[in-house]
Amino acid sequence: KINSFGSIFAILLIDFSLVIIVILIINKNIRLNLEIVASTDTLTNIGNRNRYNEAIEIYLNLFKKYNKKIAYILLDIDFFKSINDNFGHDKGDDVLIKSTKVILTNIKKDDLFCRVGGEEFVIVSENINTKDELEKFANKIRTSVENFDFELERKVTISLGATFIEKDDTKHSLFKRADEALYISKNSGRNRVTIL
Ligand code: GH3
Ligand code: MG
Ligand code: MG
Repeated sequence: KINSFGSIFAILLIDFSLVIIVILIINKNIRLNLEIVASTDTLTNIGNRNRYNEAIEIYLNLFKKYNKKIAYILLDIDFFKSINDNFGHDKGDDVLIKSTKVILTNIKKDDLFCRVGGEEFVIVSENINTKDELEKFANKIRTSVENFDFELERKVTISLGATFIEKDDTKHSLFKRADEALYISKNSGRNRVTIL
């Protein structure tokens, strides 16, 4: 009698443990999915500002620890407001989705590519080592958008500001330098690359 009671208890214990394990696995999966949802832009499916904010700290630390060359590009669609105004908000959304896809074909899998604002994106890459390479890379992205057929009665172009992470850079100083470069591209005619 004691024996059968013992085995029932053992079976119950195993069942109970299995249930706990399954709950823990499901819980972890839910949390992982929530994290992905929280850091993904719903329109373009790339990283959003949350993802960018997390990742940029990792890049800054990587630079501090190993002095790695890390390229940083801020890009913004030219005259996007007038695309919305002339063709409608849905077409504007379509331009955002398609330009994301075009840019994705030009970057490496381990490059960071996030939508940080309405029509503003950041690319961070460890795969670029010189100013020359950075200029070529940025111009390749620029021309790929310029040459893409968005099926609108006009071209869509982007302006870019690029830089490398420098000693003593913070998230803010880095963004500021790229934003200044972008500002120069905008003010000198748009559809341009400026490196600072
Ligand atoms: P510039 O060449 O100087 O960048 O001019 P711009 O018109 O692109 O810049 P501006 O900042 O004036 O316009 C950005 C517009 O982007 C305004 C806003 O309504 C629009 N926008 C922001 N987010 C979205 C979005 O998710 N979908 C659409 N369709 N439009 C958006
Ligand atoms: Mg714009
Ligand atoms: Mg903008």
